Amino acid sequence: MSRLITHWIDGKAWSGTAERTGEVFDPATGRVAGHVDFAGPAEVEAAVAAARAAFPGWRDASLARRSSVLFGFRELLNARRAELVEIVTAEHGKVLDDAAGEVQRALEAVEFACGVPTLLKGGYSENVSGNVDVYSIRQPLGVVGVISPFNFPAMVPLWFVPNAVACGNAVVLKPSEKDPSAAVFIAELFAEAGLPAGVLNVLHGDKAAVDGLLEHPDVRSISFVGSTPIARYVYETGTRNGKRVQALGGAKNHMVVLPDADLDLAADAAVSAGFGSAGERCMAVSVVVAVDPVGDDLVARITDRIGGLKVGDGRRPGCEMGPLVTAAHRDRVVSYVENPEGATLAVDGRDHEVDGDAGGFWLGPTLFDHVRPDTALYRDEIFGPVLCVVRAQSYSEALDLVNANPYGNGTAIFTKDGGAARRFQNEVEVGMVGVNVPIPVPVGYYSFGGWKDSLFGDTHAYGPDGIHFFTRTKVVTSRWPDPSHGGVNLGFPRNT
Ligand code: NAD
Repeated sequence: MSRLITHWIDGKAWSGTAERTGEVFDPATGRVAGHVDFAGPAEVEAAVAAARAAFPGWRDASLARRSSVLFGFRELLNARRAELVEIVTAEHGKVLDDAAGEVQRALEAVEFACGVPTLLKGGYSENVSGNVDVYSIRQPLGVVGVISPFNFPAMVPLWFVPNAVACGNAVVLKPSEKDPSAAVFIAELFAEAGLPAGVLNVLHGDKAAVDGLLEHPDVRSISFVGSTPIARYVYETGTRNGKRVQALGGAKNHMVVLPDADLDLAADAAVSAGFGSAGERCMAVSVVVAVDPVGDDLVARITDRIGGLKVGDGRRPGCEMGPLVTAAHRDRVVSYVENPEGATLAVDGRDHEVDGDAGGFWLGPTLFDHVRPDTALYRDEIFGPVLCVVRAQSYSEALDLVNANPYGNGTAIFTKDGGAARRFQNEVEVGMVGVNVPIPVPVGYYSFGGWKDSLFGDTHAYGPDGIHFFTRTKVVTSRWPDPSHGGVNLGFPRNT
């Protein structure tokens, strides 16, 4: 029987009747697994109103209480992580082991937020002038919006929600309508951990829900993760409406392989980072830049490894790569395979054997060689299991290619030359860089974010930037009455 996934507002499942709903699929079978309510203006208003009402109480909750709720949530999530992993696989399609990695990284972000009493410490300067002290404090913004993509239905919400609530804000989370159940599970666990009703609300839906948040005067900030055109739209609309916005966009991540690299390590990395989660990761490697003369050898090693990959239903033992998220997305990715634009189709994923239901949204790992930078295959974010190899004659040509690309999310260099790697980390115009590490997602106590068209705004996600984003600073200058004060003085205050 098809499930109905509904909003979570003011600490409970919303009991209204939606005017519109969307289908949620099991991508490994292609069958409709449920329906999700789509918010209209009334539901947006209800979610924001619940958050607004909950905010003053939560803002005034002590740091001890807030961190205790976060520790409680961390314990519950850790204890029940297998359930969340199953939810992610059922609606997204990534294999169970990959979903477990997602939940593990989400836990890191929660653990960081547990340290909020330390993170919110301000500065204090005593006696900056005669008997005058100055100190800075961090205060929450109020109601904050979080809008997340389909590809990390547990981790991306947890990049933002823990820091937001730790800082004393009330949240309206709008998850992807393609895999909405993880967000509800997270909200239920937060409620069980003692988060007061209304501090975290989950609003489902599409553009109407997003626009409702972008336009609502009570929403103070928007944290968005998704594709570049929508990220740009969210940034422009949100800032025009006076909100603080961080909008993380799409990617086209290059992995540069220098002639001295360990080619087995590089081939393993290219296959893992290119085809993990069926290429539906914003940090997936989608372009391998093979610097002469390693191209032929590297392509042979990658081809070999692709042959051994087990593609199928992520719940079946041994499957390493699952389906794409929807039929429409699979068809879009296949359209690139059908149109090589002069590149060599070295491995055709349409022929790959699949251990799964025939109705699933399948495409096996695909490899193109001799891809030219002036083709859509190179330019577009394909977001599927399609790896492109571009040949370059030198380090400089490889670097110029990466830097000319409008995206700047992640990149990696494979080499045994420390000097070359150091030069690359300095010269490359990308926000997250790996040295012999193909998916350089920063740990929870750094922050995550790309450059150029991969991020709009100036604040990265989670870690220290997250605390910065979800708070406003206030500086207090204080003097307690002292018999020595000098009476009226109309001059500009100077520190003496
Ligand atoms: P998407 O842009 O289609 O959707 C993201 C969110 O925006 C969803 O909640 C969706 O409901 C909403 N949305 C979709 N269309 C909208 C519109 N016209 N107006 C307003 N809101 C709209 O992205 P997706 O397909 O869910 O996710 C994949 C994309 O996300 C890829 O481009 C990937 O690179 C990117 N991504 C980036 C990062 C990062 O950190 N930079 C991380 C994960 C995913």
